[in-house]
Amino acid sequence: MEGELKELLSDIKTLKNSLPDRSQYALIENGQGSVQKSGGFVKNFIVKCSIQDMNAEVVDSNPYSRLMALQKMGIVDNYERIREFSVAIVGIGGVGSVATEVLTRCGIGHLLLYDYDTVELANMNRLFFRPKQAGLTKTDAAVQTLSDINPDVVLESYTLNITTVRGFETFMSSLRNKSFCSSKDGCGVDLVLSCVDNYEARMVVNQACNELNQTWMESGVSENAVSGHIQLLIPGKTACFACAPPLVVASGIDAHTLKREGVCAASLPTTMTTRWELLPGLLVQNTLKYLLKFGHVTPYLGYNALKDYFPTMEMKPNPQCSNSACLERQKEYALAKPARDAAAKAKMEAEAPSETKCLHEDNEWNISVVDDTDLQGSDVGISSGSLPEGIIHELPSADEFQKPPVSEEPATPVDDLEDLKRQLEALNAG
Ligand SMILES: [Zn+2]
Repeated sequence: MEGELKELLSDIKTLKNSLPDRSQYALIENGQGSVQKSGGFVKNFIVKCSIQDMNAEVVDSNPYSRLMALQKMGIVDNYERIREFSVAIVGIGGVGSVATEVLTRCGIGHLLLYDYDTVELANMNRLFFRPKQAGLTKTDAAVQTLSDINPDVVLESYTLNITTVRGFETFMSSLRNKSFCSSKDGCGVDLVLSCVDNYEARMVVNQACNELNQTWMESGVSENAVSGHIQLLIPGKTACFACAPPLVVASGIDAHTLKREGVCAASLPTTMTTRWELLPGLLVQNTLKYLLKFGHVTPYLGYNALKDYFPTMEMKPNPQCSNSACLERQKEYALAKPARDAAAKAKMEAEAPSETKCLHEDNEWNISVVDDTDLQGSDVGISSGSLPEGIIHELPSADEFQKPPVSEEPATPVDDLEDLKRQLEALNAG
C-alpha cells in the first residue's frame, strides 16, 4: 500500500506540472497533502503493527533479522522461543531501565516492571528516561518508551514499593499470575531480575523467590561505583541472598549509615559505565543464556573496574540459613536428587551415538575392514607358507625384524666392589 501511495503522489506531481492554469495549483496541492498524510499513517501503522512470525529474512523491514542471525550461526537452537518468556524486573533505575530496553529490543515476550519512584529531571544524566517524562512514574514512563521501541512485547507496569506489606502481596500475586502463558509450571514468569539499590528490597525479592521456588538474578554496584556483580540464585540449589549476607550486614553495621549525605552514587561518572553499560550488559547476556539455553550461565560474576578483574565463583546453600523458605527448598532439592540423576542418565543415553554409520556409501576399491584373526591362513596373509610355489620373500617380514637378536655370548660378570677397590689402590700406589 505504501508503494501505491508513492505512485499516486508521483502522478499528482506530473499532473501539477502539466497544468497550464496556475489557479488550479491550490486544489492539486490539497490532494497532494492528503496523500502524504495517508502515507505517514500507513508507515506508522506498519511500524506499530505486531510481527506475527519471527523470520530470519535479511530485509530492512524485518526487526528480527539481526537477532535471528544467532540461530543461523548455530549459537542458539531456536531464537524464536524468546517470545514465550516472561521476565519480571524489580527496580527501573540505572541497571533495570537499560536491561528492560535491551530485552525489549531482543523481542522478549512479556515484561513486568516494578518501581515506586517517579522520573525527575535530575535523572537525565542517566540513560533511558527523557526530560518530557519528568513527573511520570518510572514504570509508566518505561512502558511508554518500550512500547514505542517494540510493540510486540507485552508490558505490565507496577508502581509500588515491594518492601511494604501491600506492595509485597501485589508483587507475589503478579508473579503467580499465569494469564500470559497458562501452560507454565510454578510461577507465571521465567525469571526475576533484581536491579534494586538497597539491602531491604533484595531481601524481599529473595523472600518472594524462595517462597515461590522461582529462579532469579541479582545485580549490584558498590557504593564507590567502581565494582559490581551479577549472581544467579536457584532456590535450594545455590546460596540464597540470606545464606551469605553481604559483609556489612554480617558485621552488624547498619547499611543506611553507609550512604553519604548529598552523594548519590548513581550520579558518579564511574557509575555511568559500571551501572549503565557493563552491568546491564552482563545481566542481559546471562538472562539470554539462561532462557535460550546456550553457553555457560554464570553463577556469579564480579567486576572490579580499578583492577580490570572479573572474579567468578559458585556458592552452595547454607544449611543454617536464617530464611525458613530457603531451608525448605534445600530439603526438596536434596530429595529430588535420585530423580535428577535418573533424568541426566537417560539424557546422556539418548544423546549417545547409536550404531556407527557408514561414512562412505560408495566403495570404488572394495576396501573392507576385517578382523586380524581372519588373516590367519587366508590368501592375503604374508607368511611364506601362503605364497605360490617357487616364490620366496626377498626381505624378512616386519615380524622377524621385531624379534630381539639372541646373544650367544654370556654377559661379562661385573667385578665386585672389593675388587674395584683393590685395583684403585694399586693404581694409586704406582
Ligand atoms: Zn538461604
